[in-house]
Amino acid sequence: MESQLLVVGGGLAGCEAAWQAAQQGVRVTLAEMRPARMTPAHHTDGLAELVCSNSLRGAALENAVGLLKEELARLDSVIVHSAREAAVPAGGALAVDRERFSALVTARVQSHPLIEVRREEITALDQTRPTIIACGPLASESLAAEIDRLTGGRLHYYDAASPIVAADSIELGQLYAASRYGKGDGADYLNIPLDQAQYLRLVEDLRTLPRHEPKEFERDAAGGKAPFFEGCLPVEVMADRGVDTLRYGPLKPVGLRDPRTGRAPYAVVQLRKENAAGTAYNLVGFQTRLAWPAQREAFGRLPGLEHAEWLRLGVMHRNTFIQSPRLLDRHLRLRDHPSVRFAGQVTGIEGYVEAAGSGAIAGLEAARAIRAQPPLDLRATTMLGCIVAYLQDATSDDFQPSNITWANVAALPPELETRDKRERRRRLAARALGEIERLRATLERGAGYEAAV
Ligand SMILES: Cc1cc2nc3c(=O)[nH]c(=O)nc-3n(C[C@H](O)[C@H](O)[C@H](O)COP(=O)(O)OP(=O)(O)OC[C@H]3O[C@@H](n4cnc5c(N)ncnc54)[C@H](O)[C@@H]3O)c2cc1C
Repeated sequence: MESQLLVVGGGLAGCEAAWQAAQQGVRVTLAEMRPARMTPAHHTDGLAELVCSNSLRGAALENAVGLLKEELARLDSVIVHSAREAAVPAGGALAVDRERFSALVTARVQSHPLIEVRREEITALDQTRPTIIACGPLASESLAAEIDRLTGGRLHYYDAASPIVAADSIELGQLYAASRYGKGDGADYLNIPLDQAQYLRLVEDLRTLPRHEPKEFERDAAGGKAPFFEGCLPVEVMADRGVDTLRYGPLKPVGLRDPRTGRAPYAVVQLRKENAAGTAYNLVGFQTRLAWPAQREAFGRLPGLEHAEWLRLGVMHRNTFIQSPRLLDRHLRLRDHPSVRFAGQVTGIEGYVEAAGSGAIAGLEAARAIRAQPPLDLRATTMLGCIVAYLQDATSDDFQPSNITWANVAALPPELETRDKRERRRRLAARALGEIERLRATLERGAGYEAAV
């Protein structure tokens, strides 16, 4: 009998999506192209192979990804339960024996009575068949071309993300709000003024601190270097080109007079709002391949960022992701082809647990649609809801992949708000887990679910 749902890709997202849909009573075909066709990063034929680190990151509930794991565990996640079973000691993190983890997921998924695993590369999509595309950042070429066609050319092959800082960790004393020549509402950006010595120090840091080396499959055939667009160069490559290149590029001070001196500074680092709530800012033009400790060191020396909480550090690497805020609806469906959903890294959500989280959402939503139940419509009171909120946040014209953070979480009711950050996160976690229990109960009853906002 033909299955009711096709899931493309047996990685973290695809396995979770197939599992959640099957747990809701839907017959699933899970198509995984390995081992016949490998990606440049995978080495085995196991489902849910971890391609790099063996860590699923922090376990504490005050940690965004820790809370996401607990939410998934309470929804009977195949990824989180297998990870906990395959755990190795790792302090406050959940790290796993990767072979055991992959073996556990493979065994559970393959033995589920409603899941059929097919070792097959999917190259064309039937837009009328319920489908979840969870092909990861290294989709096969023909599938990538198909997605590009389906999304009207909105598939990206490289990411180039600047670091993002939590707004409440910026010391505003030395900064000033202004947009170049007073455009927009005149104060759209926070500006960090640099004198000559501070600017030269930054250039020196960018030139000398350690960088990530591109992986083999990220190099271009000709030069052996990672290919970059001229219009989007890593900030350290600009620094290499000349001592003043940045001062005439993203750090140019013209039109940004400091109201305290009445003059334009020597150079300016601009911070731009990352989301509508203004809880996070990105460093404009600071896409980078500097190693993460190097980024903390160099950018933590900038005035006002000495105690920065980095929600995301800068990256530039081979990736395959769609412009989700412009393409997907709240149920992770393609707006123009609603039978087709996306999950995992290809949506622009980054990280193993986030991939599983988006897989769970897509699997549950697909199952509900197939069973003619109302959609879940998750709100940002849970980390799962924050994934949806992130993928729907069209504030930035330049959507780039990111891990889950607290940036998209819905505010607490005023009576529960507190300035104590740890306590605030405990309260956010308690609210989220209460909401997940409600969600679980409605899933078990097969009833409608309405998020409490
Ligand atoms: C080199 C590299 C290192 C990384 N390191 C980390 C890390 O340390 N920590 C971290 O959290 N994240 C890391 N990531 C990101 C990581 O890819 C994601 O966190 C996670 O694996 C994404 O899960 P996914 O299910 O979306 O994709 P994947 O886990 O990649 O799964 C996608 C699956 O789809 C299959 N597939 C692709 N095309 C087709 C097709 N046409 N037909 C059938 N099957 C297909 C692939 O074979 C693969 O099994 C890394 C990514 C790369 C590329």
